[in-house]
Amino acid sequence: MPRAYNFSPGPAMLPESVLRQAQATMLEYGDAGASILEISHRGADFLAVAHQAEADLRTLLAIPDEYAVLFTSGGATTVQALLPLNFAAPGQPCDYVVSGHWGKTALKQAAPCADARIAASSEAGGFRDVPPREQWRLSPDAAYVHVTANETIHGVEWRDIPAAGNAPLVADFSSSIASGPLDVTQFGVVYAGAQKNLGPVGITVVIVRRDLLERAGQPRAPVLDYRAQAQAESMLNTPPSWNWYVLGLTVKWMLEEGGVAEFARRNARKAALLYDAIDASGGFYRNEVVPAARSRMNVPFFLHDPALDARFLAEAKQAGLVALKGHRVLGGMRASLYNAMPEAGVQALVEFMHGFRNAHG
Ligand SMILES: *Cc1c(COP(=O)(O)O)cnc(C)c1O
Repeated sequence: MPRAYNFSPGPAMLPESVLRQAQATMLEYGDAGASILEISHRGADFLAVAHQAEADLRTLLAIPDEYAVLFTSGGATTVQALLPLNFAAPGQPCDYVVSGHWGKTALKQAAPCADARIAASSEAGGFRDVPPREQWRLSPDAAYVHVTANETIHGVEWRDIPAAGNAPLVADFSSSIASGPLDVTQFGVVYAGAQKNLGPVGITVVIVRRDLLERAGQPRAPVLDYRAQAQAESMLNTPPSWNWYVLGLTVKWMLEEGGVAEFARRNARKAALLYDAIDASGGFYRNEVVPAARSRMNVPFFLHDPALDARFLAEAKQAGLVALKGHRVLGGMRASLYNAMPEAGVQALVEFMHGFRNAHG
């Protein structure tokens, strides 16, 4: 069975060349006499892998020196839980701009250890848009303002994330990091689970402005302390070394392909192909997000008759197009178009959708 076009929201499609390199080194890594899975994270071989991955990520995203880059385990959700512990004083308000499911999750994860407040939310409108800056009600003494750059489930993405004022912006870029140019200096913290656009699940990138690491935060174990992790180069305990390695391969692949400017061009073309097909379907397919906030990475869409959903998914799978089922909170379909999805995959999806509509419209 050949590899399908995999529209999974995450863990998501990886470049075949990355998988082949990972496969080759699974058995023997260089002259280590062992698999990359079997060597010490403190040995020279792995340290070289870790440092190269960080250097390449810094190049890819133009991350300045005044930002530390952490490689953590526990996923983006654990970062969400640790944000108030690291960056908010006890009782200090933390503002959340909620544009979908993941913004809500960030708030929920912070709530036990923070005065987490909803500064703005687009939930009343069904998360079909981002809450405009005029509607943000910020706390004057907020520790930070949290935003979700791209809502993976609702398919809502900020084109430009507005400045928050005095408090640093903390942004969840899990599903859109490296999809295009990113001005890191606009943010205090940028974080992203790797399994959407950076590599395999099991490792999370946290980019933190170093002055924020000096904040006292709240009582926490050393292993949950981002300053301690930064000092220890993310190796206070055993890091997810395999995941770090495959992330490094993926980042290198992105650099070789032309970097984030090239991916911005590709992703714009891919998203336009699919949205145009949906909009030109005479209502057979529909996407409900306001056009200015439509995600380039995750495209939720609905068939005019949900009774056709199962058939759509089964026939798509036969056509080599997999993981199109929408998230249970929305239903319908969702196509995720991360960097590793080639334009040919989106073309194949659009052609399939056209044929399906002709057969069932
Ligand atoms: C996937 C995702 C998360 C959760 O990531 P985990 O690794 O499962 O914790 C958080 N935020 C966004 C935007 C996501 O896409």
